[in-house]
Amino acid sequence: MKIHEYQGKEILRQFGVPTPRGLACFSVDEAVAAARQLGGAVWVVKAQIHAGGRGKGGGVKVAHSPEEVRSAAQQILGMHLVTHQTGQDGQVVRRLLIEEGAQITREFYLGMVIDRSKQRVALLASSEGGMEIEEVAAHTPEKIHKVWIDPVAGLRDAEADTVARDIGIPATAFSQARTALQGLYRAFVEKDAMLAEINPLVLTADGRVLALDAKFNFDSNALYRHPEIVAMRDLDEEDPAEIEASKFDLSYISLDGDIGCLVNGAGLAMATMDIIKLYGGNPANFLDVGGGASKEKVTEAFKLMLHNPKLKAILVNIFGGIMKCDVIAEGVVAAAREVHLNVPLVVRLEGTNVEIGKKILEESGLPIIPGNDMADAAEKTVAAARGM
Ligand code: ADP
Ligand code: MG
Repeated sequence: MKIHEYQGKEILRQFGVPTPRGLACFSVDEAVAAARQLGGAVWVVKAQIHAGGRGKGGGVKVAHSPEEVRSAAQQILGMHLVTHQTGQDGQVVRRLLIEEGAQITREFYLGMVIDRSKQRVALLASSEGGMEIEEVAAHTPEKIHKVWIDPVAGLRDAEADTVARDIGIPATAFSQARTALQGLYRAFVEKDAMLAEINPLVLTADGRVLALDAKFNFDSNALYRHPEIVAMRDLDEEDPAEIEASKFDLSYISLDGDIGCLVNGAGLAMATMDIIKLYGGNPANFLDVGGGASKEKVTEAFKLMLHNPKLKAILVNIFGGIMKCDVIAEGVVAAAREVHLNVPLVVRLEGTNVEIGKKILEESGLPIIPGNDMADAAEKTVAAARGM
């Protein structure tokens, strides 16, 4: 689960990481009032969306008077902000962060992720902050310094100081950098993050170390123990299909292709997407209806897929183990009737009572294309999608 920058900064502050003072706003008037309340002479008006690259996309503007704050807020609020992380349509800006402008002398990159192969949290740090770290990683990987943090000892002072030196933080600011690095690590661990990023961490003209941006992604499996994080969820930033799916306990992820997949079991769902690709098609989604693919669940799953205007065909691939094939076939038939299916539907069933299941599909009178095995089903689905 992702959160906004201003929420990320609240968390950073709780762990002692210094950030500029700022206020979240939902309207232009609130933005101007926030600037007055913060005081000072320079403010930054920042679009709050769950994607990076806002600066380059025109979502971060510096203002030198409350009137400039007003015009920046007018420009940014409601805009479709397009960045390298949003896709072509961009994301509508509904919230702003108004914060004190910092006088930046250097920008650094700090990131933490879980390195599963090392079974540790990896700290990534670079002198090349503010830029897209992906570019730095691709062209000058030697500029990214890594530390794999011992889970028992945490990030040691000496390790933090070495990182600070490696990325070019002056020795006079080591103790501040230590506070930022160790604070970020404690926030990462205590809040069950999967990713935490401060880009940029800056050194200001008056020698302070400040986090100017904050990005967190939390492990959804651990949210049950963080109601304070769940409270930060912003459904406007999430895929409506995925929100709808979670209500019905369906694991659904929207993808770019045009072939809907309805599968039971995550492994089979992944194999199904692979085989669609193998036959030259592109999956429109990942969808695991779980072990008990009831009629209700299958119906909701069909509805979700049919909401996608790009959809050209659906492949249902079910292994009837705990749930018998005849029960599933009845569910598929009932669901297909209820949703007025308007794209070709290929169904491949295997497992317990498969013959009865196939007969139910055949006798339903619906134009269901039977797939004999996975390869056959995938080939038929890709062909059906091309024929649309
Ligand atoms: P994004 O990563 O989405 O582009 P950032 O929050 O990193 O957004 O902002 C982009 C750039 O804007 C930063 O690299 C920094 O140079 C500048 N910036 C952001 N916040 C401030 C601030 N409070 N004061 C001065 N400059 C800022
Ligand atoms: Mg940034």
